Amino acid sequence: MRGRSVGFVPTMGALHEGHMSLVKRSRHENDINVVSIFVNPTQFGPSEDLEKYPRDIAGDIRKLRETEVDILFLPEPQFIYPEGFSTSVTVNGISEKLCGRFRPGHFAGVATVVTKLLNIVRSTRAYFGQKDFQQTAVIKQMARDLNMDVQIVACPTVREQDGLAMSSRNVYLDKERRKAATVLFQTLHEASEMIRSGGKASAVRDAMARRLAGEPLITKVDYASLYDPGTLDEIGEMGGEVLVAGAIRLDETRLIDNVLVRP
Ligand code: AMP
Repeated sequence: MRGRSVGFVPTMGALHEGHMSLVKRSRHENDINVVSIFVNPTQFGPSEDLEKYPRDIAGDIRKLRETEVDILFLPEPQFIYPEGFSTSVTVNGISEKLCGRFRPGHFAGVATVVTKLLNIVRSTRAYFGQKDFQQTAVIKQMARDLNMDVQIVACPTVREQDGLAMSSRNVYLDKERRKAATVLFQTLHEASEMIRSGGKASAVRDAMARRLAGEPLITKVDYASLYDPGTLDEIGEMGGEVLVAGAIRLDETRLIDNVLVRP
């Protein structure tokens, strides 16, 4: 493959238009395109949804064929984690913020599997979604820290018509909860408007909390606030670009979303 660029999109399958936007971008920018589907057990906590995580290999293959992907990498768990596997990649600091506080070990699971996948595929570029802002930040940091010879490309979030960020997990939502789920993006959107019109961080935060508290089908708000997109620390005052991010639970279904705003 000398001289030819390779684009790689790692996924956990149940592919939707969000995934496919990454695949299309990769196709546009590279000569050879690789997609992986691997539901990585080490990034799920003991009480999380590994067993019931949506799987649709036949549908995924059809979509990848239609998009003319060259290679689908579909490893078995024992290929990725053979007996005796004993290494873990931990990205300190940013892995502990936001989702990291609620999903201990999650980002070490992600960083480890992405390291393995990148080492196996050895692509020129690898594509990740802004929807998982923290995940993309962790991977960028890791690639930098470990001198990985790959360009990490972040792609914008693809949404449903009503604003809900596309996610494989959206299929868990019944009709009522699917409708209620839009409150997350609405909250982020309203917060962005407040920021753009000069709102103070504390006022925006309070408005976000009130908006989410108004939706009775939300069983828990893990977090919803304003963060520095570089450090992922909560911000006290407006300065440069702001990451408005939230994670909520509707019963068992955990949804995350974020938008970047310039005050
Ligand atoms: P997953 O299969 O959920 O692990 O996602 C695989 C990749 O697709 C990750 O880089 C995600 O950030 C990205 N992705 C998932 N949903 C979306 C979306 N709605 N828009 C853009 N990228 C997405």
